[in-house]
Amino acid sequence: MPRKLVTVRRISALTPIKGADRIESATIDGWTCIVSVGDFKPGDLGVYFEIDSLLPGSDERWAFLAANSGRSGSPPADIRIQTIRIRKVLSQGLLVPPAVCPEVVEVMDRLQKELGRAGMEERILTMSFEDVLGVRKFEGVTSEFKTAGNIEPLAEFPSFIPKTDQERVQNMPNVVDEWRDAVFQETTKMDGSSMTVYYVRRDSPYYDLLPPLPEKTVASQHPNGRVGVCSRNRELGEHMGKQARNGSFFWATAQAAGIPEALARCDRNLALQGELCGSTIQKNFEGFGAGVHEFYLFSIWDMDARRYLPPREVHEVWAPRLGVKHVAVEGYRPLGEIASSVADLVKRADGNGLYGRKREGIVLKHVDGAFSFKAISNSYLLKHGE
Ligand code: ATP
Ligand code: MN
Ligand code: MN
Repeated sequence: MPRKLVTVRRISALTPIKGADRIESATIDGWTCIVSVGDFKPGDLGVYFEIDSLLPGSDERWAFLAANSGRSGSPPADIRIQTIRIRKVLSQGLLVPPAVCPEVVEVMDRLQKELGRAGMEERILTMSFEDVLGVRKFEGVTSEFKTAGNIEPLAEFPSFIPKTDQERVQNMPNVVDEWRDAVFQETTKMDGSSMTVYYVRRDSPYYDLLPPLPEKTVASQHPNGRVGVCSRNRELGEHMGKQARNGSFFWATAQAAGIPEALARCDRNLALQGELCGSTIQKNFEGFGAGVHEFYLFSIWDMDARRYLPPREVHEVWAPRLGVKHVAVEGYRPLGEIASSVADLVKRADGNGLYGRKREGIVLKHVDGAFSFKAISNSYLLKHGE
């Protein structure tokens, strides 16, 4: 599901901020966001821009957010919504009254005529408005080919494997109540780059969907099937593995870990999904030694069953069988025992990574593999700005 960056939300509470009389803290689902006093009352609807929204700098209504209006002559820079702390209060996102966005008000009016007030509210809360407002997602230094712009991907990401993604827990205000008794696997969220390694048997329908292989590719080909390596959004050519560039550690790491051979031995239509971490990935927030790159498995997609294998089986059976590292597992417990609220889950996200540095957060997966979400550490967000 594509991330909804701009949505209409209901403000559940407004809390004064000590020592400030012009601003207050608004609660929307699991988020808190600083607003001007008088903009909202509890129960009002507001237009909410999630963190990492990139607002068009050319749109005058956001000029008040710009750090500086740019050098004269150059167009104003786009504005990134980040996590900030004002007077010790966390503010995540931008929340404005609908009147600031006539594009949204227009839709609200039309829906209200069609469906009445209650019907309009029900519908509007499910819509997203990033396109009409020209908002994009901030993809900074982390974007996959930033330092490897000269590298041509082999193909689009395979259509028969889901792309990795996790919803933020703040957008699931009732998650603990709804899943209280269900057992979840709690893992550390690593801050590297998403990597998928798949194996497709020659006799399967997926084989015909694969891109033609360039010449001189050896590691991809196995007697009964074919291996592919993908970043978050692309399948990568095997020849890229030779190049010591950020975007091309994918194949090299898969090969060094013996993943193509291990998958070929299993001879099943499977996709391993994990995090490629190492000294050149992202800003190496984890603290890997120079030149070290590693793949940390977090799930396995079973193409024939069209589902993720149960996370516990992936951790306890598949990772050792394939000889690959697995992301750190905190345990397996009913969600209601892991945490009592969304805020509690966000607090749990604070913690340390592999080498003792602040970790990005946690990912919780239902043990049947069908449902999962993330909680990002607020101290990590404040430190790294993402
Ligand atoms: P953003 O969406 O802000 O660009 P992101 O690339 O980290 O951030 P998210 O939606 O935040 O994507 O989180 C999902 C990603 O987290 C997955 O694509 C995966 O690459 C990564 N990840 C790291 N550790 C884990 C884990 N333990 N379980 C599942 N996914 C993980
Ligand atoms: Mn995402
Ligand atoms: Mn990530």
